[in-house]
Amino acid sequence: MTNQIELMFTHQLQERKQRLEDAASKLKDPAELDHLLRDVDEALEKVSRGTYGLCETCHEPIEPDRLAFDPMIRYCIDHLSETEQHALERDIQLARQIQIGLLPKKDITLPGWASDYHYEPSGQVSGDYCDIIVPRDNRDSFFFVVGDVTGKGIAASMLMSQLHATFRTLAATGLPLDRLMEQANRTFCEASLTTHFATLICGIANNNGEVELSNAGHCPPLVVRSGGVDKLSSSGLPLGVACESRFGSERILMKSGESLLLYTDGLTESAGSSGELYGEERILRLLTDRFRNSPTELISTCVDDLNMFSGNGKRSDDLTILAIRRK
Ligand SMILES: [Zn+2]
Repeated sequence: MTNQIELMFTHQLQERKQRLEDAASKLKDPAELDHLLRDVDEALEKVSRGTYGLCETCHEPIEPDRLAFDPMIRYCIDHLSETEQHALERDIQLARQIQIGLLPKKDITLPGWASDYHYEPSGQVSGDYCDIIVPRDNRDSFFFVVGDVTGKGIAASMLMSQLHATFRTLAATGLPLDRLMEQANRTFCEASLTTHFATLICGIANNNGEVELSNAGHCPPLVVRSGGVDKLSSSGLPLGVACESRFGSERILMKSGESLLLYTDGLTESAGSSGELYGEERILRLLTDRFRNSPTELISTCVDDLNMFSGNGKRSDDLTILAIRRK
């Protein structure tokens, strides 16, 4: 465990101890909290011995995202009791249902555009974020976003749902895109662990074909045109790296039939059977001559090719692809 993370856990544990002591001072029978205080003291002692975060059965490190959630856990997933295993499985199933409920509707009506997306967690839940938001008071444009929180599993999925709430709120304010990203970054910085950040690209598409994009360190978006595929640039730091980051934006004009494809690195960084990565070049080649394809066709072309490339094995990372096409 790095010093910085150890310090963070020590700080969290000391805060917990302080809260428990405050609570105990207000109770008629403070002994009720004795066992909780004892657990915190044990955890702090483990930090000083250098054994904090190790499973008490196998002495291997406990999964970091579980520890980030509950700094008091003592066993890795493999060494939970049967009851704990079942409770965890139920929780994860519920988290999965909640996360699926946060995705945009598939049959959403957009002004002058068609859309589709593919959202596939590598496990039960995903750290990817995908959204399409149509403002209530402006039917001439809509907002879209694809992001990827570092890591996988429950902690990443919680941060995904935080991004969802942040962007849903900010999209309704009518802020210019660069200011909106700055605000989203500040909110993410303040609320997430220092170990987590998110790459993200968001945009506003107008019914006149104008698209404004802002990219926070995310995979470059692709424009499928009649003459081939253009790769747009990536700029800006990921969200959560520095609270006062600035973000720029760029505008492109899309003609009828042209599509914009956003994706997470679960596509480009998927490994094939011999370890080589799928890569950007392969998508660029694949989508050349796909100008007339619908968003659904573009996405299934990518997913089918990725499956062929990776031999239909289990995904090693969450995968999201979002396509919008000007009608
Ligand atoms: Zn273990």
